[in-house]
Amino acid sequence: MPTDNVLVSTRGLCKRFKTRVANGKGWQKKTVNAVADVSLDIVAGETLALVGESGCGKTTLGRMLSLFYQPSEGDLAIKGEDVAGLKPKQVKPLRRHVQMIFQDPVSSLNPRHTVEAILTEPLKFFSSDNAQQRREKAVELLEAVGLPERSLRKYPHEFSGGQRQRIVIARALILHPAFVVADEPVSALDVSVQSQILNLLKDLREQFNLTYLFISHDLAVVHHLADRVAVMYLGRIVEVGERDSLFQNPRHPYTQALLSSVPGVVPNKGKIGKILHGDPPSPISPPHGCPFHPRCPLAQDRCRQSMPVLEAADSNGAHQVACHFQEQAAGPAVIKEVVQL
Ligand code: SF4
Repeated sequence: MPTDNVLVSTRGLCKRFKTRVANGKGWQKKTVNAVADVSLDIVAGETLALVGESGCGKTTLGRMLSLFYQPSEGDLAIKGEDVAGLKPKQVKPLRRHVQMIFQDPVSSLNPRHTVEAILTEPLKFFSSDNAQQRREKAVELLEAVGLPERSLRKYPHEFSGGQRQRIVIARALILHPAFVVADEPVSALDVSVQSQILNLLKDLREQFNLTYLFISHDLAVVHHLADRVAVMYLGRIVEVGERDSLFQNPRHPYTQALLSSVPGVVPNKGKIGKILHGDPPSPISPPHGCPFHPRCPLAQDRCRQSMPVLEAADSNGAHQVACHFQEQAAGPAVIKEVVQL
């Protein structure tokens, strides 16, 4: 468990949404438990990848950490400052330290604004720079993301998908944030440009001293970029550890099933099917006990009765797993090769 130089820290973080569902006679109010009891530390300078199936709560957690959503419960600290219960006015000055890169560059950029207007807008709110200084900073960021100065005069539709994502990245970095949440930043792009954007994100991390939460469902991409990996299932972290430790020795049956879908990675477990059957349960009515038990080939009575908590799976506690039977589930994955991006 990281303890030094922690930039972002959560303890028991939860996010619930109210919703209405049809029950045959009308509508019934329900609560969606999108994120439940997440405790994580993100160390300055690292890339923590957050992986899991669609709808598991990755984006909701990312939006809480980037201060878009207020937590329903729990603690959230950024740079040691408690931000969980702050009012919108108090959150605003903190936004310059935390930025988000969204999945879809088309909807992230205002089509009626030039690139110059898009890049300099945050500086109008968060700096005392004059127009010339704002322009210079915009040019500097364009260069950093590999776009020429003449891009300032153009509109988003004049760029390719990869170039638009470079503009999104430039806008996220113009205030020199410490922490960036990148939510599936390459999944909307052609495969041919994905590797360019991933390498750019890697380079910018060094250049701007960034810390990333990298949200993805693509484990090959995660292997390329992450220092540590957290696996999420039905709103909860079920396994977290150093990238190589988690890829080579996945302890949670869900992680093993996810890894078995990556080309070249074959978890060495006969019990764990290569394909995960069934859909995740609804976060409106999560199953009692371990949320994975309806799909887990190792499930026993204890799994249906009590919720496993994250526990150390190695001697220094860097690798943690939430499974009652992690010893039975443990086994080295055989990594033949991981797709090189
Ligand atoms: Fe499977 Fe039980 Fe472990 Fe949950 S606690 S992952 S159901 S073995």
